[in-house]
Amino acid sequence: MVLCDVCGLRSARVFQAHTGLRLCGECFVESVRSRVWGEVEKWGLIEPGDSVLLAVSGGKDSYVMLESLALRYKVSRLIGLSIIEGIPGYNREDDVRALVEFARSCGVDVIVTSVKDYTGLSVYEMVREARFKGLVESACTFCGLSRRHIMDYYARMLGVSKIATAHNLDDEVQTLVINILRGDIVGVTKIHPLAPHPKGGVRRVKPLRKIYEWETATYAMLRGFKFQETECMFIEENPTLRAKVRVALYELERDHPGLLLRFLEYFDEILRGNLRLSESMEPTTTCSRCGALTTRGRTLCKLCELLEKIDLKEPSYARLRLNLSIK
Ligand code: SF4
Ligand code: ZN
Ligand code: ZN
Repeated sequence: MVLCDVCGLRSARVFQAHTGLRLCGECFVESVRSRVWGEVEKWGLIEPGDSVLLAVSGGKDSYVMLESLALRYKVSRLIGLSIIEGIPGYNREDDVRALVEFARSCGVDVIVTSVKDYTGLSVYEMVREARFKGLVESACTFCGLSRRHIMDYYARMLGVSKIATAHNLDDEVQTLVINILRGDIVGVTKIHPLAPHPKGGVRRVKPLRKIYEWETATYAMLRGFKFQETECMFIEENPTLRAKVRVALYELERDHPGLLLRFLEYFDEILRGNLRLSESMEPTTTCSRCGALTTRGRTLCKLCELLEKIDLKEPSYARLRLNLSIK
């Protein structure tokens, strides 16, 4: 029996390749939590007085984020938001129920809403309309823009100071590499935890940005979480560049454990001096239809513009516009 390299008491169950340690379940879970808290404290992702909207899908990452934050920060200042996309077989009701119950056991309430309630159409219905009209927009474009809009709306309606999403290290490095490959310097700086957010907007934070995806999966398995495991039927519509970058990064990490982590840490340091770039290049105004924040020079926000292409000119959320205007 191989003993845990940290406690030396229990048998090792997990090989943490990027540290070279063999850990028991308890020490592995503790290692993930302490790195989440370390990242939060290093960059002030959650500060005293903050209230935080946790975007929780019901997947493994959202369970890990919920538990690790609830153990450390005031649960009365955390609130969950779960958005049902409306995609057949995905985000099933029992998954959402399990998530809400788990959050409650952590002391965190979760608001459950849906893309259909918010816009008038589910993601599946949007895609069906788009296909009917011969539009090329992917399901992920409809889904991603809708979810961002909903998150921003609830964050501002509830008056929270931060939105936390459960993006893990793999997600973060993929986005960074894609932006580098595209030469999108503003996109690169935007992933920094201290990147300025648009005036009137709510700052987004990613507490799991230094945790590998395999670690969130292992944490969830060791803790016995009943997280959502079904894949979205539109998964292949994720942009092809991201799929290729993901495969390449997995291979690099497999051959050089810790490479992704060091890459992100390197960019965190060298970007510190360039963060004003993302601020100066993204002035904001409000959408003439719904009042949501959007980039200066636009009349409609990206979601209103997208929905107009499928003839949804009066989405349900447009009626909420007074709550969305710049403070
Ligand atoms: Fe939404 Fe695309 Fe993810 Fe499916 S794969 S949940 S459509 S972003
Ligand atoms: Zn141990
Ligand atoms: Zn709009």
